[in-house]
Amino acid sequence: MSERSLGGHTLSGSERPSKAFAKDRTCREPGCTTKLSIYNNGKYCYQHEPMAVPRTRGKKIA
Ligand SMILES: [Zn+2]
Repeated sequence: MSERSLGGHTLSGSERPSKAFAKDRTCREPGCTTKLSIYNNGKYCYQHEPMAVPRTRGKKIA
């Protein structure tokens, strides 16, 4: 095996992470400064996340 062809990288752990999402992201909602978790791949905080809207209108859950 030729290790030289693959061992040319001088990265020492400072490579930009591609798995986690960028840090210091904030909600895209204008005026909202809620920071998003790096594990939240959405663009909005939990308050403005479109999919977070309860859809139980008309239904009564006991
Ligand atoms: Zn928000």
